[in-house]
Amino acid sequence: MLSIAIPVLNEERGLTRLQERLVAVLDGLGRPWEVIFVDDGSRDGTAAQLLALNARDPRFKAVILSRNFGKEIAVAAGLRYAAGAAAIVMDGDLQHPPEAIPALVRQWEQGYDVVYGERSNRETDTTLHRLMAQVFYGVFKKMSRTELPQGAGDFRLVDRRVVDVLNRMDERARFNKGLFAWVGFRSIGVPYEVAARGDGRSRWRWRQLMRFALDGIVSFTTIPLRVWSYLGLFVSACAFLFALYILVEALVFGINAPGFPTLIISVMFFSGVQLISLGVIGEYLGRVYDEVKGRPLFVVAREIGVGGDPGPQASERRIASP
Ligand code: UDP
Ligand code: MG
Repeated sequence: MLSIAIPVLNEERGLTRLQERLVAVLDGLGRPWEVIFVDDGSRDGTAAQLLALNARDPRFKAVILSRNFGKEIAVAAGLRYAAGAAAIVMDGDLQHPPEAIPALVRQWEQGYDVVYGERSNRETDTTLHRLMAQVFYGVFKKMSRTELPQGAGDFRLVDRRVVDVLNRMDERARFNKGLFAWVGFRSIGVPYEVAARGDGRSRWRWRQLMRFALDGIVSFTTIPLRVWSYLGLFVSACAFLFALYILVEALVFGINAPGFPTLIISVMFFSGVQLISLGVIGEYLGRVYDEVKGRPLFVVAREIGVGGDPGPQASERRIASP
């Protein structure tokens, strides 16, 4: 069986279209399938729509989360419920064309465990967005040992083996692209055309994107923590040399005590450096705190049509669902 996991937030308008296109494509594959929508705390009629989709075709299932947990966690929820031998993750706004699914499945049948969709165009994003993405991926590449496949979006197929590993990772600060890459296995890209947004608007807010970028960096590298020791070493060495210079100057030219501006500037500069380094430690510490609390990754308000084997997270889900 094939499972399709789709996170949705306020997507009521496109869902019927999505269902039609999915059915057309998936029925052509000649194998059983299920679609698991994860409603990430929508405020519009998405949940009602999902119920209707399920009534029309029970292969469309849904998990309604109790509030907005963010896309990365919604994807994680979808994968926990996925029962198939492979799972496909895609967006619910029709930007990831269902028609590209057969190409992903073909590569999986060839023996690849991770098949990621490669965006052949990025025109659907604003210039600023593209620029920021470029900076982020550049920084990520420099700092992290996990290699992200170039141009890979969030549209991908993963084998059961990968799903099982992901389901065992219950970190809260989730950066799926990195996690998929971290798991490893044989992977390959398949190009696809990103469609324009159905209603022209990204569901991400800038603040969320920033948070997401920070999560990505912080969960995949500790370099920002370590640079401060090197910087400290360097600054101390400079201070030592400067002290020597002052000493020699005093011995040769006699005592002279200028340098009030130098003093102020260096005090301000180094308190700035210290505050930044403290802030970086805080970023990591805050995340350690979040993880240590061990709260469930997500809370399910309602399950529509999903059932059967609850999988390894059974106890958590029993607590989670009313
Ligand atoms: N989404 C979600 N929770 C969120 C934000 C987005 O489940 O907090 C879903 C959204 O409904 C869509 C997918 O994630 O199906 C991708 O979101 P969007 O299209 O806004 O992102 P972008 O196209 O900018 O990557
Ligand atoms: Mg989109």
